[in-house]
Amino acid sequence: MKIGIDAGGTLIKIVEIENGQRNFRTEPSDDLSKVIDWLNHQSCTNVTLTGGKAKLIQKQLNFPSKEFVEFDASSKGLEVLLEEQGHYLSDYIFANVGTGTSMHYSDGKSQKRVGGIGAGGGMIQGLGYLLSGITDYTELTNTAQQGDREYIDLKVKHIYKNSEPPIPGDLTAANFGHVLHNLDKDLTPADKLASVMGVVGEVVTTMAITLARESHTENVVYIGSSFNNNPLLRKVVEDYTVLRGFKPYYIEHGAFSGALGSVYLGNQD
Ligand code: ADP
Repeated sequence: MKIGIDAGGTLIKIVEIENGQRNFRTEPSDDLSKVIDWLNHQSCTNVTLTGGKAKLIQKQLNFPSKEFVEFDASSKGLEVLLEEQGHYLSDYIFANVGTGTSMHYSDGKSQKRVGGIGAGGGMIQGLGYLLSGITDYTELTNTAQQGDREYIDLKVKHIYKNSEPPIPGDLTAANFGHVLHNLDKDLTPADKLASVMGVVGEVVTTMAITLARESHTENVVYIGSSFNNNPLLRKVVEDYTVLRGFKPYYIEHGAFSGALGSVYLGNQD
């Protein structure tokens, strides 16, 4: 058996590969010692590590392991997943929407980090809590799916009320910019959380497509656990990428790119 671990800011992504079969699971990064204990009780010593907390794990393992730079590992894992899922892209931007968001350009073989922003999964959880009081991730994301952004986000068409706007009227003009015009409305936690998904998704997409344009590619690939149980975020990102004239790709198990990639990098020789 081979085990790949990507220990990030919020979640530890674990991929176990046995006889070509993959098993994917996550543990909270707060439970690092539980994962270390589990690893130390495995008969398998083919363990590869990546992510911000990889070194911390490596130091406490009672057998040798290999560690890889997370950007190279996620690029490698994504390369594998893209091909398996039938996407043969010669080049692309990939946005890893984790606790924070990291953006990379890939020519299909190697990656270059081209940017990063603080809007991402951590913002969804933190701002989401401030607006709703919900700490549980599943409850937070479930609630958001039912929300309506109409009275919270100001659209271009709200500004150009009786005239033809120079850009599509459905574009967001100001995230949360409609709130003060709608003080008489009853805004639910679901509505507020839907707007959190809106601002995070739109900021991530704007950055990603700007980098795609700069890098002369039309392909934008989205990965990261922030899309877990969150079809709304995925819809915001996909629709907005298309609206701006680029091609979005959402990859199944994309959040495990780093963990999977570390296994491939560790078994290259
Ligand atoms: P990192 O490597 O920084 O931990 P991830 O790609 O794992 O990044 O994404 C972390 C984000 O995923 C969190 O900020 C949160 O928005 C989301 N998430 C998905 N599933 C969970 C979960 N079970 N518990 C907490 N956050 C989760």
